[in-house]
Amino acid sequence: SDGEILGFLYSKGIKPDGVQTLDRDMVKMICKEYGVEVIDTDPMKVEGLVKKREILDEDDLDKLKDRPPVITIMGHVDHGKTTLLDYIRKSKVAASEAGGITQGIGAYKVQVPVDGKQLPCVFLDTPGHEAFGAMRARGASVTDIAIVVVAADDGIRPQTNEAIAHAKAAGVPIIIAINKIDKDGANPERVMQELSSIGLMPEDWGGDIPMVQISALKGNNIDDLLETVMLVTELQELKANPDRRAKGTVIEAGLDKSKGPFATFIMQNGTLRRGDVVVCGEAFGKVRALFDDGGKRVDEATPSIPVQVIGLNNVPIAGDEFEVVDSLDTAREKAEARAESLRNERISAKAGDGKVTLSSLA
Ligand code: GDP
Ligand code: MG
Repeated sequence: SDGEILGFLYSKGIKPDGVQTLDRDMVKMICKEYGVEVIDTDPMKVEGLVKKREILDEDDLDKLKDRPPVITIMGHVDHGKTTLLDYIRKSKVAASEAGGITQGIGAYKVQVPVDGKQLPCVFLDTPGHEAFGAMRARGASVTDIAIVVVAADDGIRPQTNEAIAHAKAAGVPIIIAINKIDKDGANPERVMQELSSIGLMPEDWGGDIPMVQISALKGNNIDDLLETVMLVTELQELKANPDRRAKGTVIEAGLDKSKGPFATFIMQNGTLRRGDVVVCGEAFGKVRALFDDGGKRVDEATPSIPVQVIGLNNVPIAGDEFEVVDSLDTAREKAEARAESLRNERISAKAGDGKVTLSSLA
C-alpha cells in the first residue's frame, strides 16, 4: 500500500511530501525491498536509440555535483535560432553569417539571471542548412533541453518536424519558442494548433509542452523563455563528477591553417585540462591548448562546458566521443582499434546489401 511504501521511504531517511515524484534510484530501492523486478524504460538506456547524455560510472556516484544544462536551439532555417541566441548572449552573430545560414555548431556559455542569481547555461546553435541533418541529430544527443523555434508567420516546416523528431528520439524535453510575434501576419494560435495536431499539446491548453511567444529580434518575453528553461532544468537534476578524467562528445571539428586540427568538445563528465592525453574517434593527441567560447585561452573545462581543443593528430568527426587516457601509447592503441573496427564496418556494409550509406562512409 501507499502507506507501507511511505513508511519504507521514511525508514531510509527520505521524506516524500506527498506530491514528489520518485527518482529512478528510489524506485529501484523500493522494488528491491518488495522483490519486484525493475524494467528500466529510461529512453537514454534503450540500446541503439540514443547516446546517453550522462555517462556516469559507479565511482562517480558519491562525487556528483550539479552541472549546467546543455540547451540546443533547433528549428527550421530562418525561423530565428541565431537571432534568439544573439539576444540571449547580447551578441550579433546572425548579422555576420554568410548567407544568413549558421555553418557549424556554435556553443556558448551564458550566465542566465534567475531570481537575482546568475546561473550558467550552455547553448548550442545548430546549423540550418539541409545537408546538416546528421549534425543536428548529434546536437540533440548531447542536449539536456531542446528549444524548438517556430516562426509565428510561417508555422511548422520540414526542419521543425525533424527537430521535434530528434528531440523525441533523444528523450530530451522540448520547449517551443513561437518567434517573430512582432511581425505582421504572425499567428501564434495557428502555430499552437499545428503543434497540437502533431501531438505537442501546449501547457496553456492543458498539455505538457511549454510554449512561449517571443520576439527574438525585439527581445519580447525572452525572460519568460529563460525562466521556463530553468524550471525544466531543475526537474532534470543534472549531475556530473568534475573530479575525474574528462569524457564527452565532439560537436564540431576542422582544420585551421595555423593551429592545425581543432575540435570543440562538450564535457559530459569530468574535467579536461591542458596536457591531458585524449582519444577521440580515430584521432588522438596531447591537449596543447584550450580555448573557451570567446576564443580565450583556458586551463580547464568542467562538465557541460564547451571548449576548443588543439593538439590532436587528426580532424575527428562531429559526434565522435572523446575520453582522456593515461598515455599517448594507450591513446594511439585505442584510436587504431577504432579505425580498424570502422574499416570492418565499412567492408561489411559494402558486402551486406551493396549499398554504402553516407554514415557508413563518414
Ligand atoms: P536561423 O536560420 O533560424 O538562425 O534564423 P536567423 O536568426 O538567422 O533569422 C532569420 C531572419 O529572421 C533574420 O533576418 C532575422 O533578423 C529575422 N528574425 C529573427 N527573429 C525575428 C523576430 O523575432 N522578429 C522579426 N521581425 N524578425 C526576426
Ligand atoms: Mg542560424
